[in-house]
Amino acid sequence: MQFSDLGLERRLMTTVEHLGFTEPTEIQQQAIPAAMQGHDLIASSKTGSGKTLAFIIPALQRVVKNRALSKRDPRVVILTPTRELAKQVFSQLRLFTANTQFKAVLILGGENFNDQVKVLEKEPHFIVATPGRLADHLTQGHFYLNGLELLILDEADRMLDLGFAKQLSQINKAADHRKRQTLLFSATLDHAQVNDFAKELLKKPKRIAIGGAFTEHKDINKRFYLSDNLDHKEALLQHFLTAEKYQQAIIFTATRSDTERLAGILTKQEFNAVALSGELNQSQRNQIMESFSKGQHKILVTTDLASRGLDLVNVSLVINFDMPKHTEEFIHRIGRTGRAGSQGDAIAFVGPKDWLSFKNVEGLLEQTISFEQVDSLKAKFKGLKPKKIKAKSTSSKAKSRVKEQPIKVKKATKKVFHAAQDVGDMPIIKRKKPLSAQQLEDSDLNEAD
Ligand code: ADP
Ligand code: MG
Repeated sequence: MQFSDLGLERRLMTTVEHLGFTEPTEIQQQAIPAAMQGHDLIASSKTGSGKTLAFIIPALQRVVKNRALSKRDPRVVILTPTRELAKQVFSQLRLFTANTQFKAVLILGGENFNDQVKVLEKEPHFIVATPGRLADHLTQGHFYLNGLELLILDEADRMLDLGFAKQLSQINKAADHRKRQTLLFSATLDHAQVNDFAKELLKKPKRIAIGGAFTEHKDINKRFYLSDNLDHKEALLQHFLTAEKYQQAIIFTATRSDTERLAGILTKQEFNAVALSGELNQSQRNQIMESFSKGQHKILVTTDLASRGLDLVNVSLVINFDMPKHTEEFIHRIGRTGRAGSQGDAIAFVGPKDWLSFKNVEGLLEQTISFEQVDSLKAKFKGLKPKKIKAKSTSSKAKSRVKEQPIKVKKATKKVFHAAQDVGDMPIIKRKKPLSAQQLEDSDLNEAD
């Protein structure tokens, strides 16, 4: 199938040609025609497989081809879990709206609220946003969604994991036109909350799953290395950053403070490294992402803030300095490389604190992972054994009678995402009192937004 077979409006087709794309990816081949027929979609496919255009193209087609339901309200709203991802989706969208009369705007947490009020007063046709800030503007009546034609949720599972269910529901309820269409993209459709949510949001949705997000990604070469402690990890890091061939690399750490610390160490070692974390203000975050995407830095040290969706074409190496707290983030982290058919390397360090997370990743990938080693940096750590059952009686006679039985390590399933491990600072959002939208956006706990 070619893009020219999809019956796209002429200006849309010109932009696709401009991008140099001739053949739609698998998810695009299925999602674009289904969305253009007006179906609601719940869709997933592996990282880097072109989901963004799978929703941008039908959105543009609908807006160009159909009359607006309302003169004033936005026609399309696209929500993403992180500001960085929203910016990236916005820049792709702008390529398509640039040669049309349609206005697209970006509404993000962490940016000036009053400026955004003015932007919304101009009645844009497209809004790309993070959910917390958009919900705030909605509450305050700075725009209305009754005429909304298309609600698009990118990385919906992540938005729900971050605790944005309330804001998403609010946006959904405000967009009450019976002709409204909804496209929900999620890394996994095997997520209870996503499925419940889909029932609330979607009308007779078509389900499109191109492989699982967790099936083998052939373009990403994964390697795992045991490590003893922080010093050992740092030595391994230095080794790989010197020995591997890569254009740009992303290093994921468990905590925000480690991003700064590691970037500092790497800079001293004369690597061109920069740190990105939720601790920085938005303009600093923007600056760092911009200079990294322009290639002004070779190495980005970050947290799961950057694990989702970011498409940085020159990243060919991902290093998990720490294993992620949320198992599925492993797939997203390594998915920053091996995008659109290019090859990538993904290395992970597994120390005692990472062990449980490692076992969960092994379960998620449904394969037994073996470790590699660097000859000059062999680890003493060999992994944790399953715990032994304690003998009930303390008498030595009784002890000798009770055979020690190993406890089976619980096989991780795709649902075991939130095993409480003290390896990072990602939030497990289970609070007595729900945070307000603005608190969620600004919360120190909330890495992503
Ligand atoms: P995903 O959201 O599935 O992780 P993205 O939408 O970010 O993936 O796309 C990944 C990369 O693939 C981007 O660089 C994008 O420009 C490129 N891409 C998208 N569609 C096509 C296509 N039809 N042919 C070739 N490359 C494409
Ligand atoms: Mg994406």
